[in-house]
Amino acid sequence: MIDPFGREITYLRVSVTDRCDFRCVYCMAEDMVFLPKKDLLTLEELDRLCGAFIRHGVTKLRLTGGEPLVRRDVMWLIRSLGTRIGDGLQELTITTNGSQLAKYAQDLFAAGVRRINVSIDTLDAEKFTAITRWGKFSAVIEGVMAAKAAGLKVKINAVALRGVNEDEFDAMIEWCGAQKFDLCLIETMPMGEIADRTAQYLPLSLVRARLERRWTLTDTDFFTGGPARYADIAETGQRLGFITPMTHNFCEGCNRVRVTCTGTLYMCLGQDDAADLRAPLRATEGDAALDAAIFEAIARKPKGHDFVIARRAKPAVKRHMSVTGG
Ligand code: SAM
Repeated sequence: MIDPFGREITYLRVSVTDRCDFRCVYCMAEDMVFLPKKDLLTLEELDRLCGAFIRHGVTKLRLTGGEPLVRRDVMWLIRSLGTRIGDGLQELTITTNGSQLAKYAQDLFAAGVRRINVSIDTLDAEKFTAITRWGKFSAVIEGVMAAKAAGLKVKINAVALRGVNEDEFDAMIEWCGAQKFDLCLIETMPMGEIADRTAQYLPLSLVRARLERRWTLTDTDFFTGGPARYADIAETGQRLGFITPMTHNFCEGCNRVRVTCTGTLYMCLGQDDAADLRAPLRATEGDAALDAAIFEAIARKPKGHDFVIARRAKPAVKRHMSVTGG
C-alpha cells in the first residue's frame, strides 16, 4: 500500500475497544458515553480485518484502545494474530495502561508479543490518581513488573504535562534506567474537547534542553517503526524517545493508519477523513469489497496533520484520543 505521497503503509494500529478503566484528564472526559456493543466489530471481524492489512503489506500491528486488555476475550484475538507472526507480520504489540498486565503478561508472551508500551505519566501514587482519575498505581507497577518477569520488553510512555509531571522526568529516567526500560515522552495533542489543554501543553524541545543539563543525550537512528525519535542516555544505558507532533511534525515519514473498534479507518491521527470498513467487511464473506475500500482509503491519505494548541483554538479533531488509541 503506497499513499499519494509515496509513503509505504506498513504499520496498522487497531483500537479494539473505546472503553477504558481509567479516565486520564487529557484523554477522556469523566462522563464519556461509550459505543453500544452492536456497533463494535467482533473479535473474528477484527482478526479478518487485520489479516487483510497483513496481506497488503502491513508488517507491524499494535493493539490499543480505550484499554485493549479490558475487552472481553481479547486474548483470543491476540493469540490468533500471533499465529501470523513470521507469515507477513513481523511484530505484534500493544499499548496498555498496565492495569491488567499482572493477569495477562505471560499469555501475551506466549502469544508471540515481545515488546509492549505502558503508559505511566508519574511515579507519584497520588498524582497518578489525579491524572488517571480512576487508576491504581500499585496495580500498574505490579503489572509492569509481571511483564518484565514474563520476558516482555517494556517501554514507558509519558505525556509531558506542564505543572503536573514536568518535575519528575529525572526521576522517571532514573527509574527506567534501573528497570532497563526505555522511556518515551509525548507532547499533548489537541484531540477532543478537554478543559485546560493550553495550560498543560509542554513543548518537548524545552524539556530536552532541561534534561541535557543532567543527562548526556546522544541522538541515535534507532527506529521502532513508530513516530518517536530516540536519544541514548549515557548514564543509564537506556533510550529516551520524543514524540513531538506539535514542535516537530513527523508526517513526512508516516507509515501508519488506524482502525477503530467499529471498523472506521483513519488515514491520519490529526484529520477527520475516514473510511468505513465495517460495511464491506460485513457485506460478503469474500474480501474483494474490503480490499477495494482499503485501497481507496489509502489513496486519500493526507500529507499530514495540522495540530495547533492555542487559547481559543478548537481541537484539531473532535474525537478523543481513546477512539483511535494514539
Ligand atoms: N489505554 C492504553 C494506554 O493507556 O496506553 C491505550 C490507549 S491510550 C489513548 C494511548 C496513549 O495515548 C497513552 O499513552 C495516552 O497517554 C496517550 N494520549 C491520550 N490522549 C492524548 C493526548 N491528547 N495527547 C497526547 N497523548 C495522548
